[in-house]
Formats: sequence, structure tokens, C-alpha cells
Amino acid sequence: MALDAIRDQPRAVALLRRALATDRVAHAYAFVGPPGAGRMTTALAFAHALLCGSGGREAGAVGGWPETRRDPAASGMPPCGRCHGCRLAAARTHPDLHVIAPTPPETNPKGARAIRIDAIRELERQAALRPVMAPRKLFVLDEAERMTGEAPQAFLKTLEEPPPATVLILILPRARALPATVISRCQVVRFEPRGGEAAAVARAQARTLLGEVRAEGTDAMFRRTERIDRETAEGLVDAYWLLCRDLVLAKAAVPASLLADTPRAVELAREAETWTLDDLLRAIELCRQAREALARNVAPRLTLEVILSRLALRAA
Ligand SMILES: [Zn+2]
Repeated sequence: MALDAIRDQPRAVALLRRALATDRVAHAYAFVGPPGAGRMTTALAFAHALLCGSGGREAGAVGGWPETRRDPAASGMPPCGRCHGCRLAAARTHPDLHVIAPTPPETNPKGARAIRIDAIRELERQAALRPVMAPRKLFVLDEAERMTGEAPQAFLKTLEEPPPATVLILILPRARALPATVISRCQVVRFEPRGGEAAAVARAQARTLLGEVRAEGTDAMFRRTERIDRETAEGLVDAYWLLCRDLVLAKAAVPASLLADTPRAVELAREAETWTLDDLLRAIELCRQAREALARNVAPRLTLEVILSRLALRAA
């Protein structure tokens, strides 16, 4: 997805486009906002613009490396979508794009997920290397607030001495989720909770799909999810995440105005009665895992099938 296609975060997108157009890309960004606001999608779109390898003017030295490759990002051009770099970026297999997400402890797959010191050391090692094919290397840290132990301190060192030709993007829910020393060295990009038309469309789409799978069983699921692209899948997963959250709130009989989908408060309350709280919390956790799987490049169809099985059939 291109930055231009992200319509419900105009302020964040304008800030990033300006950085591209003026070739003033910061060493580090903090994308701050609630889950489901499109922070990862935007980070990947921004990365994509920085990784496109065609067109534009000669970049000259980028962040210290003598650079002769063309850098379209430096001239503010959108990514071409056709070059090798674009194809790799779209498939999330670009060697200069690194997505780091919290993981459970090696010894306990059910333990608390965290970004540990080892992951930051590996980031440091990678960041010190020359980019493989693009003018820059991109590191996206999802759920950066889950840096634990010595990790924030080690990361601060990386921020204080930014490695050349490297852009770091932290994704976190609140600026205060990390030490101020870290945030003060990042350009903060704020994301509003998604409430606009795009979210309503994704919600409607998610509801239709769920209804079909409930009515027609798994056959409908396989038919509908066959040709689903990654961005659509992400929008749907976010919509399911919000739906489950609404069901938890409806179960607690909160005022309808607090629901993401206020107009459907009555239906939500009715559906909430058919769920146990435990099942809903498990479904929310499943959505979170699905979001992570999509960021790691697991097939969108597979990810959606797992969620739909849980929500529609309450299995899997
Ligand atoms: Zn390109």
C-alpha cells in the first residue's frame, strides 16, 4: 500500500510525505497511537517509499555512505511499484527491511512476549552494515513498549549514535510507554484512533464475511478468502479485533457511546450474551497474533481462516 492510499491518518501521512519530498528523513520515528490505527501499515508504506530503487535523482551521500544508487525518496516521488526493490518491499522480503516484534522466551513459548536485549544487539549489528540494495536500511519495532530489561538502554545507545543510512521506526501505543530519553530522540508521529469511513467499510466487510461463514460453513470461508491481499486482510483483522473488544464492553454493559460500533449496540449486546468472557479474550489474543503473523509475512488467507474459524465456528 502506498502512503497516498492511507486516507484516515492525514496528519501522519502529510508529515511523512513532507520528509520524503524534502529529503529530511529522520533517523528515528515513534509512531504513537492505538492498535488498529494503521501504524504498521503506514510504517511499511513509508519503508516502501524509501526502498524503491528506480527513478528519481542521484542521491549523493546518504547518511554517510558514498551512495551512487538512485534514491526516489529523496526527490519525493512515490515508489514506482515495478522495480525489484518495490516488489521485494511489497512482499516484505526486502533485505533492507527488518521488522522486529516481541517474542516469548525461548524456553517457554507461552511466556510473556518481549523485545529482549538479544534482539536489540542483533539490530545494532545489522544496522552497522551497509544496506544490501537500497539506499537505506529500515528497522520497524512493533510493540516497542515491550522492550524489557536492558533493551531500552541498549536501544538508546543506538539512537545516540545513529548508524549511517538507517531509519528506525518504533510502534507504540503511548509516548510514555518508553523512557523519555528514548522518545526525545525520535520524531513523534501521532495516529488518531481509526473511526472514519475506511474503518466503517472494513467493519461492514468483516461482518459480511463472518455472516457468510456462519451460514455456509467452511466452504464459504475457503471460497471468500482465496484471493485476499495483505492490506485487506489487515483491515479485516483490525475490524475483528474491534468487534471482539466491543463484545467485551457490551458484556460489561458499558454505555453504547463507548463502543467502536455504536450504531450496532443492540445487536452487539445480544451477541455478547452468547460468548463467555474467556472466549472473547482468547479471540482478542488471536487477532493480535494474526496481526503479528501478517507482519511476519504469513499468508493473509491462512491468517484470516484461523480468525474466522474461531469467531464463526468457535473452533480452532
Ligand atoms: Zn520501485
